This record gives sequence, structure tokens and C-alpha cells, in this order.
Amino acid sequence: MAANTQRIGWIGLGRMGSPMAERLIKAGHDVSIWNRTRSKAEPLAALGGKIVNKPSDLADVDVLFTMVSTGKDLEQVYFGADGVAANGKGKLPRVFVECSTIAVEESAAVRTKLAGLGAAYVSAPVSGNGKCVKAGKLSSVVSGPQDVCRSVESLIEVYAPRGVYYVGEGDLARICKIAHNVMLGVVIENLIEITLLANKAGVPRHAFLAFMNNSVMGSIFTRYKSPALVNLDFTTTFTPELLRKDLDLGLSLGTDYDVPMPVTAATREVLQSHFGAAQLKSDPEKYLAGDFAALIETMAIGAGMKLASENRNVATGLET
Ligand code: NAP
Repeated sequence: MAANTQRIGWIGLGRMGSPMAERLIKAGHDVSIWNRTRSKAEPLAALGGKIVNKPSDLADVDVLFTMVSTGKDLEQVYFGADGVAANGKGKLPRVFVECSTIAVEESAAVRTKLAGLGAAYVSAPVSGNGKCVKAGKLSSVVSGPQDVCRSVESLIEVYAPRGVYYVGEGDLARICKIAHNVMLGVVIENLIEITLLANKAGVPRHAFLAFMNNSVMGSIFTRYKSPALVNLDFTTTFTPELLRKDLDLGLSLGTDYDVPMPVTAATREVLQSHFGAAQLKSDPEKYLAGDFAALIETMAIGAGMKLASENRNVATGLET
């Protein structure tokens, strides 16, 4: 079946889901959309997305994508009262492609339930934030039956043009995504640590990060987090809460597989201190509902530093 003839459903139009679904709509696909907060779906309706009233209205699409917060939220949109599979073995999408970052067991439980209803399920978490989606820098790691994964690869590529990486059967993609986010946490923590060190010794943060970003240690990630660390702009891309969830998932996998993860454990505890430190600020929400890069404010306290924005125009590397 040619990709553009398939009927697509999309659930979850938050910071990630909205630009991902937008790419499918703009590529000319027939996309029906649902979001719990309807107002977030309206901008996509203006581009050609068809808003439905409840998840169960998407039971007759060919391929259903989801991008919600947690495994519990996923359970609700799949199997809750108005969930896509609320009618049991009635009409169901041929393939469920699940992109959220959830635990391996949660994903495996969903796979088993859907298999019982005769539907195929692809674990397809992604690497990159909402700005990466817009810049065409998102990638995806996928697992499940190989033929089913292949059958939806060209659709996933629309929002993940940097690559769709098949890693095996079942929910192995979840392990890869959690390991990826553990590295994200460790890298941001260490990047902040060394940026504060250089800064306290007298190097402006923008000068230090310009050097680092163009060194062999620089990456897409260090570049796109640099403006936040220089200008203390904590507009949310990914919250401290979601990052703590992922570090906890990583540590729990370490326990399951008997793999010591000392650097992850230390990073997790540094991040934990951010939740307490934020309460002592006059505007805790800025540090908790804002971006995880706000961790620099907490770590600056430990270094006895009071930070101010350097008001610099710093490239993100994601400019389009
Ligand atoms: P977000 O902006 O908070 O969006 C979450 C989405 O899930 C919203 O559409 C929300 O609906 C929906 N949702 C949450 N609970 C729900 C429920 N019980 N029933 C129905 N819908 C529900 O989060 P995000 O940043 O897009 O992240 C989504 C997922 O992607 C998370 O698993 C996250 O870990 C992962 N991820 C995030 C990033 C990133 O940089 N942000 C990168 C890669 C992966 P409402 O609009 O009604 O709240």
C-alpha cells in the first residue's frame, strides 16, 4: 500500500507530538488527530488535520501514532473508557506505533493486550526535542516484529528523517531510549558542571561553550542546549520531572540486569536537589515546569555563584 493512501491517526499533541504530526500532515498524509486539550489540536486542523472527539473515533485508521507523557496515560488512551481499543475486538488500527518514553514493562504489557485483540504494535521512541522535529533532526529507534516495523518505516521517516533504527523484537527500543536519556541527563549535568567551573574561573559561558561546541566533544545536543546555559532562558523543551523519570527508569534497568550505573546514580541525586532548591526560589515554577537546563541555577548555588544572563545571540545549530 502506498504510504499516502493510508489513514493515519495521531494522539497527543504536546511539545513533541504536535510538530511530529504536523510533518505528516504537511507531507500530504490523511491524518486524524485527537488531543485531550482540544485547543492544542486546532492549529493542526488549520493545516489539514481532522480533529476527532475521542480516541475511540480513531479505531478505524490504518496506522495509529501516540505521543503522550507516561505509560499510565497511554493505557488510558488505548484501553480507557473512550480509548481506541474500548470496543475490544471490534475495528482496530492495523498497527499501533507508540513514540512516548515509557518503561519496558509498561510497553510489553500494552503489546500483550493488543496482540490479544489482534493488533500489531511497534515501540518507536525518538531522539531530539520539539525544535529538532521542526529542524528535521529527529531520529527514532524501533522494535517489534520486523515486517510490521518495515511497513511503517516510511511514515516514521517523515518526522524522524535522521534515521529509523531497528534494534530487534519486542520492546528493546525502550531499553535503547532509556539508555539514551540517561546519557542526556549525565551530559547536561557534566556540561553544567564544567561550564560553571570555567565561568567561576573567569571565562564567559558563551566563550567556553563556543569552544566546546566546536571541539571534538561538541554535539547536536551541547549546541542546542548552549543558549539556555548562556542566557538562562528556560523555555520548556523537556521538564526536570520527565528527566528524573527517565533516570529512574535507567537505574531500575541497571538493577534488573545487574549493571552498576554509578554515574547515573550521582546524576539522579544532583537532579533531585533541583526539586528542593526550586522551592526556595520566589518563582519555583520557572525551575520545575521550565526546561531541565534550569539545573544550572541549582548547581550554581553549590558553587556559590549568582548567575546573570550574558544576553548573547548563541546559535542552536537547529536554525532552519
Ligand atoms: P507534553 O508537551 O507535556 O505533552 C504530553 C501530551 O500527552 C499532551 O498532548 C497531553 O495532553 C497528553 N496527555 C498526557 N496525559 C494524558 C492523558 N492521561 N490522556 C490523554 N492525553 C494525555 O510532553 P512532550 O514533551 O511532548 O513529551 C511527550 C513524550 O515524549 C514523553 O514521554 C517524553 O518523555 C517524550 N519525549 C520528550 C522529548 C522532549 O524533548 N520534550 C523528547 C523525546 C521524547 P494535554 O495537551 O491535554 O495535556
